[in-house]
Amino acid sequence: MFENIGGKLKTFAKVSFWVGMVFAVLLGIVEAAQSKSFLLGVLETALWALGIWLEALVVYAVGDIAEKSAENNKLLTKMAASQLEQEPKRVSRLDALSKDEPARPTDGWICEQCGMRNSSGARFCKGCGNYK
Ligand SMILES: [Zn+2]
Repeated sequence: MFENIGGKLKTFAKVSFWVGMVFAVLLGIVEAAQSKSFLLGVLETALWALGIWLEALVVYAVGDIAEKSAENNKLLTKMAASQLEQEPKRVSRLDALSKDEPARPTDGWICEQCGMRNSSGARFCKGCGNYK
């Protein structure tokens, strides 16, 4: 019932505007008949029409704002979701970068026998026990 409240408000504004206009004309006719003055009848209609138009304008504007903010909210949710999807990719790219980074020579030495990387202070390979 309260879904798409913006669109409903806009529809209500349009409908109430046209119903109001008919109402304003009828009131003008009644006023003209009672006062026996065509001018007073027109004035009555014009005043009612102005009020109804302003009311419809305000309701329509509120409906428009509600509709647009709902659209914005959808868009933001979508953006946030796609950002979350991209997050793991970015992390894995960073991971790949750090893995691909060549080892600095100060990091130690590589065992000729088994290929294990050992700290520079170590004299024996921690992998196979081979002497440096
Ligand atoms: Zn070794």
